[in-house]
Amino acid sequence: MPKYYDQKIETMDRDSLDSLIDERVRYTIRYAHENSPFYRHWFRQNGIDPGDIRVHEDLLLLPVVSGRTIRENQPPNTPDFQFLSSGVGDVFTIQETSGTSGTPKSFFLTWDDWKRYAAKYARSFVSQGFGPEDRVVVCASYGMNVGANTMTLAAQRLGMTIIPFGKCDFASRAITAYRPTSIVGSVFKLLRLAHRLEQEGIRLQDTSILRLVVGGESFSDESRAFLAETWGCPVYNTYGSTEGTMCGECTELAGLHVPEDLVHLDIYDPQMKSFVSDGNCGRAILTTLLPEGSKTGTLLLNYDTEDTTSVLSRERCNCGRTHMRIYNPQREAETVWILGSSVNRVDVEGGIFQKESMQFLNGEYEAFIYDGGSPGDVVMRVSLECKDPENTDRRLIEDRFVGHFLKNKRHLAPYYEDNTFSLVFTFVHPGELELHKLKGRQKRLVDRRSGRGT
Ligand SMILES: [Zn+2]
Repeated sequence: MPKYYDQKIETMDRDSLDSLIDERVRYTIRYAHENSPFYRHWFRQNGIDPGDIRVHEDLLLLPVVSGRTIRENQPPNTPDFQFLSSGVGDVFTIQETSGTSGTPKSFFLTWDDWKRYAAKYARSFVSQGFGPEDRVVVCASYGMNVGANTMTLAAQRLGMTIIPFGKCDFASRAITAYRPTSIVGSVFKLLRLAHRLEQEGIRLQDTSILRLVVGGESFSDESRAFLAETWGCPVYNTYGSTEGTMCGECTELAGLHVPEDLVHLDIYDPQMKSFVSDGNCGRAILTTLLPEGSKTGTLLLNYDTEDTTSVLSRERCNCGRTHMRIYNPQREAETVWILGSSVNRVDVEGGIFQKESMQFLNGEYEAFIYDGGSPGDVVMRVSLECKDPENTDRRLIEDRFVGHFLKNKRHLAPYYEDNTFSLVFTFVHPGELELHKLKGRQKRLVDRRSGRGT
């Protein structure tokens, strides 16, 4: 089995990798100036010579671009697509990604783009031990999301077999008949699938599954551990988006490797003025890096992913790869502020997926933040689905949650002691959470304090 997909690049020493990055920064900036109406205009408007952007630190001179910037620079707001950065004849597919509001963002992908995306996933698959013998069920959806199609292209390069269900509701006979070695899906889809298979009498430990690949959303270490225990195999994380991030965990499970020769990731401070030092948490801002001579359909420099992460290491990993590793990114949109502390959905999830608690729970949860009885008080209500609510050790689940949550969110502990911050638990039957009644993307952490969203 191959150890690397692209050994020369993946194991390149730091100095050579940094020079390759800077070389690609220069080509990419030149490409932006020559091909992107948005950047050509920006350079002219701001009196900056594209030749002044020589190394990756110089990217600080350029504006940070958000999903909103893209929408403001495409029809109907502008006559043309200002971020379209190749000839129309070079565009292979047009993708749309829907945000929470407004017109979807448009992305133009050339065949070069697809090849680079596939290479990134192929590296990630190989780093997770995949090879030609593998048969992979893809539960991620095909269509406007690039993930499933990119993985399928990557599989072709590795000689792997893909079973493209696109959803996790496939018949259980697929597991026994095709004997897949892996399934790609989200943590919750794979937990629900496990539950369904067990109900149909399939023992998960006896299946042909050797490893699972999860992606598409952040998750806690605890929920991953529970998923791994449920299936009896390792679970590897991937982080990908239409904008071109595709980072993956290797078998060392020591952070997600960023394919640094193809995408440059900077981590910004909350004011978005400068980079934070390694180890500190900040906003993940990405820049596509183009190899000399290649084309791209939508060029994004300093693109705000609206995710937060930190650099874990730029040292060589035990797997031999030198590309930097980052912490599992969390969505800024899933973060709420409680009495001066930021609380992400993943913090709540970590408190729920405690080993002892999971004998009673099925993993489905939702949490709501409310105003308390007195001004300034805050209440977080955590609702949990129990396999059998009448025979559940509620006290144990509450204690485990409070212990883990306050250990993680130390600044909230004094507020919890004096009841300024309270935690309330609701235990319900499977299928009884509010989120099952809602259409669209399920939100598990909802701020219902006055004047804060829904
Ligand atoms: Zn590694």
